[in-house]
Amino acid sequence: MNEISTDVLIIGASLAGAAAAKRTVDAGFQTITIEKKELPRHKICSGILSPRGYAFLRENFGEPPDNAFHTPKWVTGVNFLFPNGLQLPMPFIPGPTPHIYRKFADYHVVRESRTEVHERTEFRDMETGAKDVRVRARRVGTGEEIIYRAKYVIAADGPRSEAVAKLYPAFRDSIYWFVVGQKYYRADLDLDPQWFHFTINSRLGYYTWTHAENGCHIIGYTDEHGEPWPRGHGNAVEYFQQHHGLRIHEEVFKEGCLENFGMSLTNHFVFGERRVLVTGQAAGFLNMMAEGMSCAMHSGAIAGESIVESFTRNRDANAIYDELIQSERKRTVDQWNPLKILFDNPHEADLKAAIMKFPIADRAYMVKEMLAYIGQFRGYHWVAPILSASIRRLFLGRY
Ligand SMILES: Cc1cc2nc3c(=O)[nH]c(=O)nc-3n(C[C@H](O)[C@H](O)[C@H](O)COP(=O)(O)OP(=O)(O)OC[C@H]3O[C@@H](n4cnc5c(N)ncnc54)[C@H](O)[C@@H]3O)c2cc1C
Repeated sequence: MNEISTDVLIIGASLAGAAAAKRTVDAGFQTITIEKKELPRHKICSGILSPRGYAFLRENFGEPPDNAFHTPKWVTGVNFLFPNGLQLPMPFIPGPTPHIYRKFADYHVVRESRTEVHERTEFRDMETGAKDVRVRARRVGTGEEIIYRAKYVIAADGPRSEAVAKLYPAFRDSIYWFVVGQKYYRADLDLDPQWFHFTINSRLGYYTWTHAENGCHIIGYTDEHGEPWPRGHGNAVEYFQQHHGLRIHEEVFKEGCLENFGMSLTNHFVFGERRVLVTGQAAGFLNMMAEGMSCAMHSGAIAGESIVESFTRNRDANAIYDELIQSERKRTVDQWNPLKILFDNPHEADLKAAIMKFPIADRAYMVKEMLAYIGQFRGYHWVAPILSASIRRLFLGRY
């Protein structure tokens, strides 16, 4: 059996993992990233990178190559669609943001991080010790087993993190899971292709969206976990046919996945312990509107920085990470905090200014529909956690 030692082992060659690697490699620590897929790999994602995410990506990894962008390349903002046909456009601040092709954008950041990548290598299990972590992995295809010994491990393996499941065996059953499905159509649609369209419609489930990509229109839908494909997807298609002129010529592709939406809404993050630092969406980072790329990169960089700090100052990396990660936690939870939404502006867009452009009757209608939309989440017991988190933030300045 092959045994490999390293300073830092990162699980997952994506945005969070690459941002973490950038910090540890730049500081001179040997860093290996294991990735279960072959690179460049496909990643289900709309690819709308927020302005903050784009700034981070360019500053840390340089401008991505042309093949790392979809058409249309720029997205102006999010356009909310209401049941009566009203549309509420909310442009991004400070301006349009890119629509990235994850396959090649992720490949770009992983290469630019200069980590040593072991692709087609799947994390299986780990044992934490006083001085290092022993990780068991398997080469996909050959089944060969490899043991890694790392002083620190960063779990950046996304929403269905196997590393988190091993570290906290009860964790998966402690959160809500949603099944997301999207279909790509060659079609006509009477909605502006420069915008990401999101329905505020309690009859259309939790998360229904459409956007244009490379000559296709994508229709996405989210349901409760339990089925391999979200049953309501057909209703979403019907809705776009009836209200926004969707005329389908051909279904091109379909894909789905499970998502841990809600960890940031309920302020229920996992940051790791015993030399394992959990980051990105594996830790629960996901902004409102399922925007997870910017917080994946920022949290990943903080995880990497915490390990560098621990090596240089001989301090416990988990303790440093728990401290430093609070800034990103605040930023993410603020997006859901009703007090922040009412009295501040936690998003990279100005919802209040967008609403105020409408006559008062429309504003009242939109607020009523937004409340009905939020009301459908009442079974998920998020009200008490977000309210207590908001009050802690108000009086203690932290969540
Ligand atoms: C339909 C959909 C649309 C989305 N649209 C947007 C959007 O427009 N904008 C936005 O900002 N966010 C969007 N997101 C969210 C965004 O994709 C994620 O939040 C982001 O990719 C999280 O980054 P990450 O680096 O934490 O993890 P991921 O990008 O999930 O990467 C995890 C990596 O770990 C690897 N891995 C997993 N398990 C193992 C294992 N056992 N061993 C080795 N490797 C492993 C995976 O192959 C993957 O490469 C969307 C998500 C979905 C599902």
